[in-house]
Amino acid sequence: MLEVQALYVPLEKLRNIGIMAHIDAGKTTTSERILYYTGRKHMLGSVDEGTATLDWMEQEKERGITIQAAATTCFWKGHRINLIDTPGHVDFTIEVERSLMVLDGAIAVFDATAGVEPQSETVWRQANKYGVPRLAFMNKMDKTGADFDMAIKTMIDKLHAKPVAIQMPIGSEKDFAGVIDLLKMKAIYWISEDGSQYVEEEIPAHLVSEAEDRREELISALAEEDEEILNLYLEDEDIPIEKLKAAIRRLTIENKIVPVLCGAAARNRGIQPLLDAVIDYLPSPLDLPPLRAQTPDGEAVEIVPSEEAGFTALAFKIQVDPYVGKLTYLRVYSGRLNKGSYVYNSTKNIKERVARLMFMHADKREEVEFARPGDIVAVVGLKNTTTGDTLCDENRPVLIERFNFPEPVISVA
Ligand code: GDP
Repeated sequence: MLEVQALYVPLEKLRNIGIMAHIDAGKTTTSERILYYTGRKHMLGSVDEGTATLDWMEQEKERGITIQAAATTCFWKGHRINLIDTPGHVDFTIEVERSLMVLDGAIAVFDATAGVEPQSETVWRQANKYGVPRLAFMNKMDKTGADFDMAIKTMIDKLHAKPVAIQMPIGSEKDFAGVIDLLKMKAIYWISEDGSQYVEEEIPAHLVSEAEDRREELISALAEEDEEILNLYLEDEDIPIEKLKAAIRRLTIENKIVPVLCGAAARNRGIQPLLDAVIDYLPSPLDLPPLRAQTPDGEAVEIVPSEEAGFTALAFKIQVDPYVGKLTYLRVYSGRLNKGSYVYNSTKNIKERVARLMFMHADKREEVEFARPGDIVAVVGLKNTTTGDTLCDENRPVLIERFNFPEPVISVA
């Protein structure tokens, strides 16, 4: 039996992210691998990774119940990551919009043999509309036809994005062997079948000059957008890795660049560096502008992610759980939500009681007493709340503006 505990982390260590992808690009595989590695880490704590007793199949069985959860909480290097399900299919446009609204960042998964495909354009534009900072993961690097540079180029041509490769693949197709981290200038190889063990080594001699060129490209792309990097670059200084990371983080959050990584999720390669990039480059709720909302008489207010502020949350998904019944997924924006309390649904002008609160993990539900700003929490007891409703304090009613006045969906020819 897996044991997980409510682990509240400081707000800056929280990441609410989604995975966006064209159908078949590998969203499911990537999400599963993320849950696998994060579950393992969390379960084992400081214990040596090699001593894990659960294998794929066992873990797969145990998480059977909640794998379909609209949001799953997992942990990576002291950070809590809420992985929010983002429907990828173009037919579910409204659903996509609702889930994008509650995300602070996203991983866009592409098939490295195809690059950007038509459906990815639609979701990408929706993410642009909500200003969701993104990382790109070029998946299926092991597949015949995989071409990292071609796939990156399609991001420029079709998405008008500014992709910045922070890795380079070592080999491709059947010879895909690992990646080079262009910040650390180290090669990473996965050495166990399930991908849980990997080593960092010196870059092989025949790839050093290509890696140096690509690092140069990375730095010059950052210098185009960031003055501090530009000055160091012009002075020909050796730029410390922490400065590069900070610039990548800032520019990603401002939606000026999209860091690009690669791997082969189905072959368990590339996931840990992707998780590192999530915590290094995607924002916490504190890094984003406050949510805009309005009072019932139309006055604009800003919702800051503080526990001291009045309670505000958005219901973004309803699911029926075979064991506990109707679960309403909320993103809490401000204030604290306590189990047993009453909340005011300002969209419907009703009061409802919060009977139970749960965090959903890959393998089980975890009941908690309260939820804090930034949290994604599943609530039992909200009988009449539907997707898109704002929940708040009765004595400080607000409506979340972005949802109530959606712009028309941009259609792609
Ligand atoms: P989704 O539709 O985006 O959720 O994609 P899936 O994760 O279901 O993957 C679609 C297909 O691609 C499946 O047959 C996967 O096994 C395969 N696939 C996923 N990742 C990789 C990969 O890294 N390499 C290869 N060769 N196949 C992959």
